[in-house]
Amino acid sequence: MASNNSITIGETVVAPGQRININLPVAELYTATPLSMPMQVVCGRKAGPTLFISAAVHGDELNGVEIIRRLLQRKVLQSMRGTLLAVPIVNVHGFLNQSRYLPDRRDLNRSFPGSAKGSVAARLANRFYKQIVAKADYGIDLHTGAINRFNLPQVRGNLDEQKTLELARVFSVPVIINANIRDGSLRACAAELGVPMLIYEAGEALRFDEISIRAGLRGILNVMHLIGMLPEAKRPKRVEPVLARSTSWVRAPASGIVSDKVKLGSRVKKGQRLASISDPLGDEEDNAIAPFDGIVIGRSNLPLAHEGDALFNLAAFESVSKVEGLVEEFTATHDLEPRHDG
Ligand SMILES: [Zn+2]
Repeated sequence: MASNNSITIGETVVAPGQRININLPVAELYTATPLSMPMQVVCGRKAGPTLFISAAVHGDELNGVEIIRRLLQRKVLQSMRGTLLAVPIVNVHGFLNQSRYLPDRRDLNRSFPGSAKGSVAARLANRFYKQIVAKADYGIDLHTGAINRFNLPQVRGNLDEQKTLELARVFSVPVIINANIRDGSLRACAAELGVPMLIYEAGEALRFDEISIRAGLRGILNVMHLIGMLPEAKRPKRVEPVLARSTSWVRAPASGIVSDKVKLGSRVKKGQRLASISDPLGDEEDNAIAPFDGIVIGRSNLPLAHEGDALFNLAAFESVSKVEGLVEEFTATHDLEPRHDG
């Protein structure tokens, strides 16, 4: 087996067999304090692909930060082939402020590939793009729902692309979604470079969710097995996911107090009531209705809504009942799993 190549990130050269923490400079704060993006480069002794794993591109989405922390504790990385670029906090400004955005309210995930002389968002995007994405063969970017919006663990990617579809399948969450590429997103930028990339979405902003974290870690390890960075597990834990045909947000038909909500992961039928919305005195009541048969893959946890607020994200499948079974099995598996398995 050929030996691995060294990799240079910023000013640091990481040689095969080395594992180095790097603080990639990104900006200076008002206080003239330098701000940097913390990352770890694990350069395996033997040749293999380079994989980047990033989190907190939206600074308040924290499950991925914990997923990467746990990944880096895994002993199996000692015998890993290829190179792992682990970046737990991409949007360092947003992370400090517990905010999705950068201080100028820009969304980092609409700022790629950015530029070295642009706004804070453009510079941060550009640095990440040049130092990480452009040096990788594959990428996984970890996200959660927004504040008060909980996403059922799901992967998104350009599934028309064969390699990405394979990565999405092996990640082993029940639902995979063929998502259109948004301009300025990290994914658009990776696609331009021909780097197959997955988005993992699970849980909600500013919270840790144990099942989302475990499933994300398991998914990353599965991908690392598939692309030859890790040896195949003795008892691979896989679910065969189902591809969503389409997804759609169901919005509040009126403003008010939201009650009797269906659970995340529920199977719903067209015309079924998903929640009721009433005024605080309970006089007027309106229902949010499922527009088609599907599974609830995202849900607002806030019991208040303005008319038009997104309440439920519903996904349509060829076989809704199959997905319902998968979701139940998946939740049970990750609930029982010991924290440091395999
Ligand atoms: Zn996000």
